[in-house]
Amino acid sequence: MPAGASGKETTPQVTAYVALGANLGDAEATVRQAMDALDRLPLSRVLRRSSLYRTAPVARDCAGRADGPDYINAVVALDTRLPALDLLDRLQALELAAGRERPYPDAPRTLDLDLLLYGDARIDSPCLSVPHPRMMQRAFVLVPLAEIAPGLVSEAQLRAVANQAITRVDA
Ligand code: ADP
Ligand code: MG
Repeated sequence: MPAGASGKETTPQVTAYVALGANLGDAEATVRQAMDALDRLPLSRVLRRSSLYRTAPVARDCAGRADGPDYINAVVALDTRLPALDLLDRLQALELAAGRERPYPDAPRTLDLDLLLYGDARIDSPCLSVPHPRMMQRAFVLVPLAEIAPGLVSEAQLRAVANQAITRVDA
């Protein structure tokens, strides 16, 4: 049968990796609730959750001070049949539901959900780049990703971000 002839064709199941970050309000609670919300997305299931990690904000104010409180970061592996752009829409809806505003780049945020990987897809569209273009520069992504998917992060990649302070939040 040709593709689409049944009208029921579905996107194949892929494992996506989503990075979670929050540094306003009760960031730990927000990240844990967001993990639960990801598990409730249609056609999706959270396979693995990293520990929660604490990191200093990347953004600096004009005097070089950290912009806002520390972040809570984590990564989840998500089995999903949602197409990548639909998944991005869902992530952004969850950010909005958590009160996310975007006043300026790297501004403090109640919730940031970034799509790191979508199976082995390479996507370069105006609103979605996968693999996430900055993931390899960020300890707050690589350390939790390595915890749940050690085969995806090399020792050399971890060493390259080892100067960025990151501590695991005790469960
Ligand atoms: P950042 O996460 O880099 O601090 P934002 O969360 O404000 O920035 O996202 C800015 C835009 O990045 C979004 O509107 C989204 O369309 C785009 N974007 C591109 N690729 C991705 C991706 N892989 N995951 C999440 N957002 C992405
Ligand atoms: Mg983002």
